[in-house]
Amino acid sequence: MIIPPKKTGTCAKGKGKYEFRTIGMNRERKYTGNAEQVRRIRASASIWAKRHGFIIEAKIKKGGIIVSVVGFKKINPLEKRTPQISTLRIEIHKKYGGRCAYCGEEIEVEKMHVDHFRPLYRKWDNRPRPSHAGEDTPDNMVPSCRICNSLKAVYTIDEFRAEIEAQVARARSRSSNFRVSEKYGQIQYVSFPVVFWFERFEKSLVK
Ligand SMILES: [Zn+2]
Repeated sequence: MIIPPKKTGTCAKGKGKYEFRTIGMNRERKYTGNAEQVRRIRASASIWAKRHGFIIEAKIKKGGIIVSVVGFKKINPLEKRTPQISTLRIEIHKKYGGRCAYCGEEIEVEKMHVDHFRPLYRKWDNRPRPSHAGEDTPDNMVPSCRICNSLKAVYTIDEFRAEIEAQVARARSRSSNFRVSEKYGQIQYVSFPVVFWFERFEKSLVK
């Protein structure tokens, strides 16, 4: 077996100097420090291992500690916790037939993002507009997929619509893949106003 050269570094949290080498899955780190530093390293290593499902071995040596990953923890399916889904989440999920309020994609309740239809007023926003602010109450919460939720961010619904309408022009100017595809007729820009799923959904209930 070829043992890679040791690399040395300084620990970010000021735990002293350490060196480590990686052999297969044996990620080994040797820390040097006094008794107090060793105790802290051992504690944080076990928290780290628990979080990532690693089995580690910690050997305390004179003047330091060697921490190595020796395996992965097998997760017993019975041990897996089933997260409790709140009744509020279930209610929000049902609002528009189990779909994202904006694009209309079907979403699982576990993966659903909860968006504030009228954005919340946050002091640290670039353009805080208390007049546009929505409340953190269930009637202002709508189901959303991850993509729509992150794109909508702090926009009002009209700003969000304008943002979506601007996407094609943006893709055309920034992406040569887009321009080539368009040139060869692989994609075609069909202009029509953006209609959100919740608008179609509400309209279908009125009929
Ligand atoms: Zn969506």
